[in-house]
Amino acid sequence: MTYNRRQIMSATLSITLLNLADLAAAGTTKPIQRMPSIFVGHGSPMNVLQSNEFTRTLQNWGKAIGHPTAILVVSAHWLTHNETKVAVQAYPKTIHDFGGFPQALFDMQYPAPGAPEFAKQAASLLSSRGAKPSEDWGLDHGAWTVLHFLYPKADVPVFQVSIDYAQGGDCHLGVGRVLSALRDQGVLILASGNVVHNLRHIDMHATDGLVASRPWAQSFDAAVKAAILSHDTKALARYERLDAGAQLAAQTPDHYWPLLYAMGAARDGEAPKLVFEGFQLGTLSMRCVQWG
Ligand code: ZN
Repeated sequence: MTYNRRQIMSATLSITLLNLADLAAAGTTKPIQRMPSIFVGHGSPMNVLQSNEFTRTLQNWGKAIGHPTAILVVSAHWLTHNETKVAVQAYPKTIHDFGGFPQALFDMQYPAPGAPEFAKQAASLLSSRGAKPSEDWGLDHGAWTVLHFLYPKADVPVFQVSIDYAQGGDCHLGVGRVLSALRDQGVLILASGNVVHNLRHIDMHATDGLVASRPWAQSFDAAVKAAILSHDTKALARYERLDAGAQLAAQTPDHYWPLLYAMGAARDGEAPKLVFEGFQLGTLSMRCVQWG
C-alpha cells in the first residue's frame, strides 16, 4: 500500500495533535495518590443528628485524608450468604435500614454518585471468589451515617462490597487484601462496624467515654487494640479465642468482621494510627483506625 503526500501530512498532523492533547492532559492531571484503608466504629445511627467528640473526629479525619477518587465501603449492614456482591449502580439510594428512630433520620439523604467502573473492577478482582455485580443495594446506614461527616458534600463516588457472612476471619482478611489494589488508584477503603457491639446489654444512661459499662466490653476492646498494634492478624481472625469477653462483645460477628477487611487492605509496614477510641451507650466501641 502506498500513501500520497496529503495522507502522510494528515497522519503526521493527527499524531502531533494527539501528542499535544496527551501532554496537556498530563500537565493538568494531578498524580493519583494512594488512599488509606480505614476502619470506622459507627455506633448508633443517632450520631448523624449529633455533634459529639466522635462526629467531630470524623469531620477532621475526612479533611486530613483528602479527596479520594472513589470510596469502597464494607459495612456491617450488608451481609450476604455464600457470595460476595458489589453494588454497581450509578446512583445508589440512601437506605434507612433501622426502625424506631426520629423522622429526621428517615428524611436524611446522602446523594453521592456511585462508582460503577471501580465497582466492576472490584468484582473482577474478586471473581475467583465468585463475586457478582449487583443492583440490589445502595448505601446503608453503616456507610452514609459516617460519610455524612467524613465527606459532607457527598461529592465522592461511593460503592459497597458485601460481607459473605458464611465465611470466617481468614476469608474476610483475604478479600481486604485483594481489594487493597484499588488504593493505588485513589480509592479509599472504608470498613464500617464496631469492635464491641452488643445491643442486648446496651446502657441507655451511660455517658460517652473511654470506660465501657461492662468489664467484658472493656477487656475485649483492649485485646483487639493490642492485636491491631502488633498487627496480629491471625489472632484477630480467630477473635473468639482472643479474649474471654469475645462471646458477649462480638456475640454475632457482623460488626466485628469489617475490621478484618480494613486490616487486610493494609500493606506491610503500614503502622496503624488509632484515630478514635471510647464507648457509647456502654457497650459500643467507637474505635477507629487508619492504615496508610
Ligand atoms: Zn451498625
